[in-house]
Amino acid sequence: MGDEWRQEVKPIILEGGIHMPYSWTVGRVGSRFFIELRDKGHFLANRCTTCDHVWVPPRLRCPVCFKAIPDEDWLEVGPEGTLKHFTVVHYEQPAQPLAPPFAYGLITLDGADSDVAHLISDTDLDALKPGMRLKPVFQPDRRGNMLDIAYFTPTEG
Ligand SMILES: [Zn+2]
Repeated sequence: MGDEWRQEVKPIILEGGIHMPYSWTVGRVGSRFFIELRDKGHFLANRCTTCDHVWVPPRLRCPVCFKAIPDEDWLEVGPEGTLKHFTVVHYEQPAQPLAPPFAYGLITLDGADSDVAHLISDTDLDALKPGMRLKPVFQPDRRGNMLDIAYFTPTEG
């Protein structure tokens, strides 16, 4: 049986959506990072013993030199950091964790060579500029994910 029926009958198209809950493990390295963030409000990083790059969030394998990163060279970085890039959001969208206006930024935590992408709020967004010093504002009830950090905000002002 082929598609001949399509020549005689116009197919009916039903609109719908699929709600698909899912879960996955963040792995050994991610679990250690998120448990420390949740329980102590600390940012753990790991250092590639081959190229010396410090990664936060930590990695199993170095994205620069592709070598496995051994477990022994973990360190704490941040909590403050430097704003590298940002974009200000003015539109409302249901999936966003904050009501606009706010900013998404790339932040280099002190002691790290990589950046974290996160929200920036509770500040004059027109005054944001690369190089600004930022600090995290943590949720009072942390659950072990990146939104345990409510947002970053300037260290001064
Ligand atoms: Zn490396």
